[in-house]
Amino acid sequence: MSPKRPVPTGSPADGPWWTRPDPTGETDTGEFGLRFECTQCGNCCTGPSGYVQYTDDEANAMARDLGITREAFDARYTRDTIFGPSLTETETEFGFDCVFLDRETTPGKALCRVYRSRPAQCRTWPFWKDNLKSPSHWSRATRTCPGMNTGTLHPPETIALTVERDTGAAREG
Ligand code: SF4
Ligand code: SF4
Repeated sequence: MSPKRPVPTGSPADGPWWTRPDPTGETDTGEFGLRFECTQCGNCCTGPSGYVQYTDDEANAMARDLGITREAFDARYTRDTIFGPSLTETETEFGFDCVFLDRETTPGKALCRVYRSRPAQCRTWPFWKDNLKSPSHWSRATRTCPGMNTGTLHPPETIALTVERDTGAAREG
């Protein structure tokens, strides 16, 4: 028999499924929150053709990181989509890689060339609204993201802040 666990501040018992212990149903640790640690496999930055949205400020930050003007950034790395401007893609043996996915620098790893300034769409993965709709949505996403349900435990408070920054309501889940 184990003692009752207190409900953490900001995580009411009637909150979303991921604010309660053992949310994935795959562990029996009674932990609050979700585990995630990126393995740098690159799966989330490739696959079927999609889009990576960014704000004006994020585009400026990426251009600064790359050491190019905003005009050059727009011309080289962006395209218009029905969801607005997006980063471009490069077709590879893995699928449609984001133009900033770097498979060369570190063998066996897929890295982001604009990691420090990557857009919120990328920063908020895997804590997207779509993935957090239900345990089965979360579980489905784990099929392509090996970092989910492993590594660092992210408490509900942190996840909630990340979810707020996910603006990709129209994105395919
Ligand atoms: S799919 Fe998951 S583990 Fe792989 S690079 Fe993306 S976030 Fe990291
Ligand atoms: S900007 Fe970086 S993290 Fe985002 S999709 Fe492109 S390579 Fe992946």
